[in-house]
Amino acid sequence: PARPIFSEQLPVGLQKISSIVAVSSCKGGVGKSTVAVNLAYSLAGMGARVGIFDADVYGPSLPTMVSPENRLLEMNPEKRTIIPTEYLGVKLISFGFAGQGRAIMRGPMVSGVINQLLTTAEWGELDYLVVDMPPGTGDIQLTLCQVVPLTAAVIVTTPQKLAFIDVAKGVRMFSKLKVPCVAVVENMCHFDADGKRYYPFGRGSGSQVVEQFGIPHLFDLPIRPTLSASGDSGMPEVVANPQGEVAKTFQNLGICV
Ligand code: ADP
Repeated sequence: PARPIFSEQLPVGLQKISSIVAVSSCKGGVGKSTVAVNLAYSLAGMGARVGIFDADVYGPSLPTMVSPENRLLEMNPEKRTIIPTEYLGVKLISFGFAGQGRAIMRGPMVSGVINQLLTTAEWGELDYLVVDMPPGTGDIQLTLCQVVPLTAAVIVTTPQKLAFIDVAKGVRMFSKLKVPCVAVVENMCHFDADGKRYYPFGRGSGSQVVEQFGIPHLFDLPIRPTLSASGDSGMPEVVANPQGEVAKTFQNLGICV
């Protein structure tokens, strides 16, 4: 664990978590949840106690990406707390496990629901809580960052030039909040076919971000049918294929956070 928090000013549910890592993107569909889930299972595979908080209230992905036996969060009526569900030893909270479908809510309500889910959860002692942030850099994200003492942020993007502008926004948001951006993950970078490597969205945008903002690490993830299939099947790729290239990338990312 990077830095023990254990502060008494924090909401009770977060007091025994050593590192809280935000996985963020400035747009939907770039692979943020895929990265959050595989990072979490990679850390767990290295022996850490891990939780995932899926803060994407509008489109929670966690219920599709993992397959816990118990798909509903339980309440402890005496303590008025929420007990996370669990899959392969990782504790999980998502609006998608709250027994309702997608939310139709305005921003302030969303922030309220996120705060409640996060702060009343009985996470217990964790080395890492991975927060799958809602996409974007608006009010919901800002409020979340103010409630949760993030220790690090990982930014997920795709290689297009346009994505560079979005990433810069994300980096600026975290730097205003004094949260260190430790890595950029450039997802869907390339694919291999007929013995050749193709870069369908161009190259160089990730390294530009890393240089310009002084972010210490850049990771590339290839376009892989198995990554997509494992996301849909409820078994994270790093668990399904622990010796693969993707699992190694996530182990290295895990070491950075
Ligand atoms: P986000 O959280 O940014 O909305 P997701 O992680 O839900 O994005 O990914 C969107 C879709 O793309 C999912 O179906 C996921 O399985 C797929 N996907 C993400 N990254 C890859 C990849 N590197 N190769 C293949 N499919 C991917």
